[in-house]
Amino acid sequence: MKNSFILRNVKRIDGNSADIAITDGKISNISPAGGESEEHIIDFQNKVYVSSGWIDMHVHAFPEFDPYGDDMDEIGYKSGVTTIVDAGSTGADRINDLMSNAKDAKTNLLAFLNISRIGLKQVDELANLSWLDEGKLLQAIENYGDAIVGLKARISKSVVGPNGVEPLKIARKFSDDTSLPLMVHIGSGPPEIKEVLQLLKKNDVITHFLNGKANNVFDTGGNPLPELLDAIKRGIHLDIGHGNASFSFHTAEQARASNVHFNTISTDIYRKNRLEGPVYSMANVLTKFLYLGYSLKEIIDGVTVNAANWLRRPELGKMRNGQTANLTLFSVEDRPVTLFDSEGESRKAEQQIVVKGVVINGEYIAC
Ligand code: ZN
Ligand code: ZN
Repeated sequence: MKNSFILRNVKRIDGNSADIAITDGKISNISPAGGESEEHIIDFQNKVYVSSGWIDMHVHAFPEFDPYGDDMDEIGYKSGVTTIVDAGSTGADRINDLMSNAKDAKTNLLAFLNISRIGLKQVDELANLSWLDEGKLLQAIENYGDAIVGLKARISKSVVGPNGVEPLKIARKFSDDTSLPLMVHIGSGPPEIKEVLQLLKKNDVITHFLNGKANNVFDTGGNPLPELLDAIKRGIHLDIGHGNASFSFHTAEQARASNVHFNTISTDIYRKNRLEGPVYSMANVLTKFLYLGYSLKEIIDGVTVNAANWLRRPELGKMRNGQTANLTLFSVEDRPVTLFDSEGESRKAEQQIVVKGVVINGEYIAC
C-alpha cells in the first residue's frame, strides 16, 4: 500500500459521506465526499460505514494457554478490531511473553493483568491464595505499566474454589494500592453476586453482565438488583464479555426492557468460541445488539468512544486529523442470519453487520 491514499465515499455513523485522506500512517484530512484528489483512491461508493477502529475490551490473546487463548491478529484486525484488550489471560508470571508476542502482531494490544500470578495457565487461578502475590504484581506493572489498563479478577465458583469472596477483597486492595481499576468476571456463586457488587468502585468493570446464570445481576422477575443500580450510580462500567457461557438473549432482553444499558460490547473471544461459536467474531456479537433493537450509533459507541474513554485513551475513539489512522470499515446488510447465545437459544435477524476492511496503524487491509 502507498504511503498516501484516500478512502472515498465512506459513510459516517451520522449518515454523512466523507473522504478520508491518510498520509504516512496518519489521518491527514477528512472532507465532504468527492473533495479529495490523490493518485491512490479506494472508492466505497457510499455503501460502507467508517468508524474509529473497533476496540474489544475482553479477549484472550495468549495462544500458549488452552482453552482461553487465540492469535492476536485473528481476533484483531482480521475481524475489524484494531485494538484488543487481553482480559487477564496472563498474570505476573507470563505478562512478559504476552507483551513480546504483541511485537509480532499488527493488532494493537492492551491488557488487564490477572491478579493471580499464574493467569489462565490453570482455570482455577484464584483457588490458591498464595498465587495472589502483590510483589510480583507490582513488578509486572512497573515493567509494562503503559500497556496494563487494569487488574482482572475472575470471581466465580469454579475459579475461586473454597475461597469465596476473599480473592475479590485482595483484588480490591491491589486495585487501591496501584490505582488500576478492576475488571471483574461474574458467574456462578458462591460468592453471591450482591457481595461482589458491593465491593466495586467507580471505573471498575463488570464483564459478563448479561450472563444467563442463576447468580446474575437481575432478580427472578427480571428486574435489576438494587445492588446493581447502586453500583451503576457509583460509576461502575458494564461490559458484555459474550464468551462461551456469558451472554443470554433472555437476560439481554430484560436489561433492555429495564433500561440497564451496556457501556462496552466485547466478545470474550478465544479459539474455540471463534471457530465453533457462539461468539464467532465481533461483527457477529454486534449483530446481536442490532437484533435487540439498539441503534447503530449506540452499538458502535460500545466498541469505540465508550471503550476509548474508559481506557483513558480518548483519541482511540475519534477520527481526527493528525492522529494515527486506525479505522474500521463495515456495512449493514439486509441478509438474514441465525444468531446464537451462550444458552443454546437462537434468534433470526434480518440484518447483519459485516466487516469490509480496516486501516491499522495507517495500513489499509480489505477483509
Ligand atoms: Zn470470564
Ligand atoms: Zn474471558
